[in-house]
Amino acid sequence: YYVKEPTGHIVPGEHVKYVEEEIDLENVPLGGGVLLKTLFLSSDPYLIYRMRDPSIPMFCPPILIGDVVDNAGVGRVLRSDDPNFEEGDLVYAYLEFREYHVYPGKISHMFKFPLTKIERLPNLPLSVYVGTLGMPGTTAYQGLKGFAGTALQPKEVNGKTVQPTLFVSGGAGPVGTFVIEYARQINPCVKIIASAGSAKKVDIMRSCGADVVFNYKEERTFDVLRREGPIDIYWDNVAGPVLDDALLNFNRDGLIIACGAISQASGADSAVRHFEEIFQRNLSVKGFIVYTGETAHLCGGFHAEAVPLALAGKITSREHRYAGLREAPRALADLHHGANTGKAVVVVHDE
Ligand code: NDP
Repeated sequence: YYVKEPTGHIVPGEHVKYVEEEIDLENVPLGGGVLLKTLFLSSDPYLIYRMRDPSIPMFCPPILIGDVVDNAGVGRVLRSDDPNFEEGDLVYAYLEFREYHVYPGKISHMFKFPLTKIERLPNLPLSVYVGTLGMPGTTAYQGLKGFAGTALQPKEVNGKTVQPTLFVSGGAGPVGTFVIEYARQINPCVKIIASAGSAKKVDIMRSCGADVVFNYKEERTFDVLRREGPIDIYWDNVAGPVLDDALLNFNRDGLIIACGAISQASGADSAVRHFEEIFQRNLSVKGFIVYTGETAHLCGGFHAEAVPLALAGKITSREHRYAGLREAPRALADLHHGANTGKAVVVVHDE
């Protein structure tokens, strides 16, 4: 349950609480829907934006105090009143953070996907549907394909072929690793610089094929970009000081894909000090929310392209698993401290 608005970071037990309640699985009314056993739930950075004063307009609907948190998840049908589903079906849906779920339930989420049947994919866990093949993967795909298709191509300058340089912050999470690997698919020769906050994450970004990887807590982003840049595209997952350092190291006519601002999501100072670089260097800034806006039409082709890449190991996944619903508050909080290494997944019931 969401119990109190966080003024800074989410504190498990204070802002989000695990509560035990009885449910009569045999007799709970389905109202034409289905009873699901929750298998996996996704913990995502944007959920903190939903834990805000509901009177302030936000890109996503609020979770109200006293509500159960809801987000993307994977479940198995236990009972069904719906002729389209039967016991045993595996499904993807937006689910309340409950062990068992009557669907449709009281979901306040903006992404009101219909209950979607999913298939097990060889050598991939079902939880891949909330990570690489779910919302984070779609975000990376939609943003790169929609905005960077041209910027990622080599250019002819004075008769020479020049490859672009892409910088990705938050490079070790499910969005960041997809960006690294999919950018490589679009142009195998693009130079990729990637940053994250631990040695383990640096190894992950290297294994995904980034050319230059660094821990932004140990090396100044400005120094690395000055040495390895200038950059042409910045995939921004974090904003804050990293964005400032990127702005000072751009080529003219560069592109910023503003995907996330996690450094500010817990209320930290959000001033961009070098805003003037945007007009001085003639930069374009493309901000977007996955599934909506001008690149939403690309979502339809996502699985057709991403599933074969994932099966071929060209788009890879790693997860940070939290065992049991009791751990869900920690899974929500950890993202904002960098304590997750990989897609944060709450394993409610193992497959
Ligand atoms: P991750 O799994 O990568 O988790 C978030 C990571 O952010 C943490 O592990 C941490 O890693 C890093 N972080 C936390 N605080 C800071 C900070 N102060 N400065 C720099 N890095 C920080 O998340 P996702 O891959 O799921 O999401 C990445 C970004 O994409 C987020 O900003 C998210 O909000 C955004 N997003 C946007 C969408 C859209 O529609 N526009 C859709 C989906 C995601 P570290 O150890 O490196 O600090």
